[in-house]
Amino acid sequence: MSKHPLKCPECSDFKKLEIFWVRYKKEKNKQLDINIPFFICPTCGHKKPLYEKEYYDQMTEKDFEEMEDGEMLDIVFKYENKKFPRYNHLNLIYSSEDYYLIPGLFRDEDDGYLTPVFFDKDILLYYNNHPNYSVKFGSFSSCNIYYQGKPLFNWGFGINRNGKIFKWLGDLNEDFKDESMLPHLKRFQASNVKSDHDIFSKFYLSQNPFSPSDMFQASDNETQLFIIKNEVDEVFYDKYEIKLTKIHIEDYFEYYKPPILEEKEQIFNAYISLNKLIIENIQTDLLKRKLIEKFKSKEINSLGSLKTLEKFLLEFHQNDNYEIKSILSSLYVLSDLRQLQGHFSDSSFDSRYNFCKERLHLNNDSTHFQVYETLIKELIKSFTDIKNLMNI
Ligand SMILES: [Zn+2]
Repeated sequence: MSKHPLKCPECSDFKKLEIFWVRYKKEKNKQLDINIPFFICPTCGHKKPLYEKEYYDQMTEKDFEEMEDGEMLDIVFKYENKKFPRYNHLNLIYSSEDYYLIPGLFRDEDDGYLTPVFFDKDILLYYNNHPNYSVKFGSFSSCNIYYQGKPLFNWGFGINRNGKIFKWLGDLNEDFKDESMLPHLKRFQASNVKSDHDIFSKFYLSQNPFSPSDMFQASDNETQLFIIKNEVDEVFYDKYEIKLTKIHIEDYFEYYKPPILEEKEQIFNAYISLNKLIIENIQTDLLKRKLIEKFKSKEINSLGSLKTLEKFLLEFHQNDNYEIKSILSSLYVLSDLRQLQGHFSDSSFDSRYNFCKERLHLNNDSTHFQVYETLIKELIKSFTDIKNLMNI
């Protein structure tokens, strides 16, 4: 399998393009300014220029020979600051360096189609809060906007590691062709921001695959959580003729509003919905009935939904390879986070919030969004474990 060209040689992360301004000087006041592209790993800092240092040294040496004393020049490469005239009517800013230098984007016909155009993520708030629109995240790094249940844009958007959303210039041109899209174009123009040259995301990998595994990216967010939770419902039904939860999978996508920004209120409101969907909807009474039928157990009446589920798995699916309490840990954390909503000013808030972070293996200084993302990943893991445990 071929290795992705952005894959860091030192760690498991992927590198990003960064462009550094460098000034070369020579005696008699000769000066050359040059922008040098590097590929840098955000995790371990591994850094490599587009061309080796010798290339730039030789190039500037040659230019200095032809320069007059006291002359100052900028070297501009062909890939820099280029405009693609066929897209001028869109009035969007972008960086042609991205198109020419980020692996997989340049095409022989040189039409700039796959140039990434960046937008502030807060544009999604408008659509997420509007009654006729919704925003759905296929993963933590891809999303689309829907109008009355139908996608408003083909292929959707990528979300990069700095939380900016982006989409290809050529696709935007297609999307905004229809006159009815003009108000949307205006809104997007207002949120259009300068490129930060990072497009690493599931969106980029699946659209510009370097290997089959790039192409088929499993989701890592709520979408995946709801799918796996639905599978657990099916396993329960196969074994006990009851579903674990009352609600159907389509209802999740209708009901659930994912948090968009690093904003406490938004993220804690998402915990309320998540808790309602996957914990409060557990069919506790039916689980208890099964427990009573089999074990004539009476002391379960007072148990809440999570404790009942724990008891049920312990009684029916105890297995030495699984520690049921730790499988369910992420659900207990969700339940605790939900309790914290509305108690932001309580004196115990920080210590209780930190205890949630600790159980997610996060530091106390983790951001609200990091807690949210990690919780979702852990919940996916919990439901996968429940499914595997029940299938033994
Ligand atoms: Zn690295």
